[in-house]
Amino acid sequence: MMPMIKLALLAAFPKHPRPEPTPILNQLNHMSDHTQRDKTAWLKGGQAKCKIPPVKAAKPYRFVLLGAPGIGKGTQAELLAQKLGACQLSTGEVFRAAKAIPESERSLAIKEALEYMKTGMLVSDETVVDLVRERLTCLHCNGGFLLDGFPRTVAQAEALARLLEEQKITLDGVISYELSVEEILSRLGGRRNCEKCKASYHLTDLPSRVEGVCDHCGGKLVQREDDLPEAIRVRMETYEKSTAPLIDYYANKGQLIRVECGKIPQETFQRTLKALNLVA
Ligand code: ADP
Ligand code: ZN
Repeated sequence: MMPMIKLALLAAFPKHPRPEPTPILNQLNHMSDHTQRDKTAWLKGGQAKCKIPPVKAAKPYRFVLLGAPGIGKGTQAELLAQKLGACQLSTGEVFRAAKAIPESERSLAIKEALEYMKTGMLVSDETVVDLVRERLTCLHCNGGFLLDGFPRTVAQAEALARLLEEQKITLDGVISYELSVEEILSRLGGRRNCEKCKASYHLTDLPSRVEGVCDHCGGKLVQREDDLPEAIRVRMETYEKSTAPLIDYYANKGQLIRVECGKIPQETFQRTLKALNLVA
């Protein structure tokens, strides 16, 4: 249902409760709340430690997640993180967190990174690899890890392979999420986030009860700068040119696990678990 129509309906029947959200959506919204797992070590880097350390997993899983922007890779990473107890390590999230650093305290590398990010272009391999290097403890995490958004170029993948080898860490695989270009564009264009609590919504697929207003905290729903049309075009082109070759790179190494995206996150998640032989 289009949000406009939805709004009109709400006004006409203010007492009508919204249909009960399905458990998975509940779970997703819950996870976007402040109860989120603590990722201080990853977000801050250096000597920073997580306030809520991970529980030592019987088997710490270590995966790389690949997929074009907008396929819902971040959501799958959150779901997998919950299931496996592994930490979602997103390079994009580190850069977005860096926006909160006052301008005068930003390092040159961070300033540059934020400029690239705004346009949808990739941050330089050197900066990103340095950033991961500053967070080596996270690769040794007891809970395992899910790398999300890194590597994004073959050069980064080669740097990661060297890093893992030198740290004697082995990957369990590289999960590649696949979806048609038309579907990707529709997903990216409709994406909205709460300015305050960061909860995610989609104009048509996961609308808020009142258009533009967060269901959880009443915050304003906004579009990420890099989800604006011109930035989306740049991101898709960059993906095709720089990141898509990683699929062949990992397939050749025999590490690739392909998962076709479903209509809703839960469908994709079930397919992922099946592909990993993790269904009970
Ligand atoms: P998306 O939603 O496109 O998957 P991310 O949240 O992973 O985006 O990253 C957002 C932006 O941060 C990218 O468009 C890019 O500018 C920058 N970025 C994140 N990870 C990397 C990386 N590994 N290499 C280069 N740039 C990156
Ligand atoms: Zn909110």
